[in-house]
Amino acid sequence: MAVRALIINPIAPRPFLRKFLLNEDPEDPEDPEDPEDSDDERARKRQKLMEAEPTKLIDDTAPNFAGFQQHVLKLNPLLDTSNNYLVDRIAHQQCLRYKGLLNLRVKHLQAIAARNCACGSMCIALGGSANILDPKGDQRGLDPLSARYGNSDGDITPLEGAVNKHSFPQDIPIPLTASLPAEFECQLCFKAKKFQKPSDWVKHVHEDVQPFTCTWERCQKPKMFKRKADWVRHENEGHRHLEWWTCDDDDCRYKCYRRENFIQHLVREHKFVKPKAAIKRAGSIHPTLAKVEQCHQETVELPRNEPCRFCGKTFHSWKKLTVHLAKHMERISLSVLELVAKKELDEDTIINPVYEPTQCPPTRR
Ligand SMILES: [Zn+2]
Ligand SMILES: [Zn+2]
Ligand SMILES: [Zn+2]
Ligand SMILES: [Zn+2]
Ligand SMILES: [Zn+2]
Repeated sequence: MAVRALIINPIAPRPFLRKFLLNEDPEDPEDPEDPEDSDDERARKRQKLMEAEPTKLIDDTAPNFAGFQQHVLKLNPLLDTSNNYLVDRIAHQQCLRYKGLLNLRVKHLQAIAARNCACGSMCIALGGSANILDPKGDQRGLDPLSARYGNSDGDITPLEGAVNKHSFPQDIPIPLTASLPAEFECQLCFKAKKFQKPSDWVKHVHEDVQPFTCTWERCQKPKMFKRKADWVRHENEGHRHLEWWTCDDDDCRYKCYRRENFIQHLVREHKFVKPKAAIKRAGSIHPTLAKVEQCHQETVELPRNEPCRFCGKTFHSWKKLTVHLAKHMERISLSVLELVAKKELDEDTIINPVYEPTQCPPTRR
């Protein structure tokens, strides 16, 4: 019985998708003029080798800094020679992620030993199960139409939600519920939550795993991001500088990279009237917003001049570049779940803290 199998290995990994390993994203047809062709070819050959024994990749990984370094390199061989800083950055975060998730498992084992898991009748380990919610019910005001159309991640959102492996992007563990909406115990953080649609679960897994990090070398403090949107905003506003606003009031010259912040600046420093969200008078534009437009500038950089830092692939839009970069990080980060599930633990296991890396030596090898 499928449910039983899932309980034995609740966060079983998915098979690697060929299209990702070979960079064959149907939404991103390969650019015929790609200058990285020869490198691409080499990467393809290496990745084809990897594809032969995909599950071995993380299986063979020792769950420590050196092991995670090797894992990142196996998935992204070009990092060996370019953007090498990403290897250490991601390996360190992988240690934090791994130990953080192990700690959550140990805490849950302690709760089970005391038979007082907060999930009550939904605790899987204590024989509980998901609480299936009525899709037509008014749980938290669910609107069936918005459930179908209202998700920006482009993932599959079946309305009458039987849950199977096609309901979620690859690498996302399948939740222990027969259908959605449902309330169930997450097998990563062991908290019970209500999930209306598949993308809610995906976002929750991202919250537990924090898969994203800044890919820019000179980042002041590259942290882990739970939400893809926050990470995109960090890179775009903090590094890529796709657009900005320079205040032209007198000789102010205040510059910022976020529209809302610029409006705030005009209101606070120059006594502009705060535009109400709803104001849209026919034929006229709010003077504050007119000022915002007047001070607005956009980058002249082209996305294709920023090749993917993991594999060198280029894109014609910033959006596609960031979606692609995020996939690399999801691929790396989420595979740690396999090691977390595999680790033998009991309620007395002590997980040593992760030490901050000593100042990274300029060259690793
Ligand atoms: Zn539990
Ligand atoms: Zn969780
Ligand atoms: Zn950064
Ligand atoms: Zn100003
Ligand atoms: Zn790439």
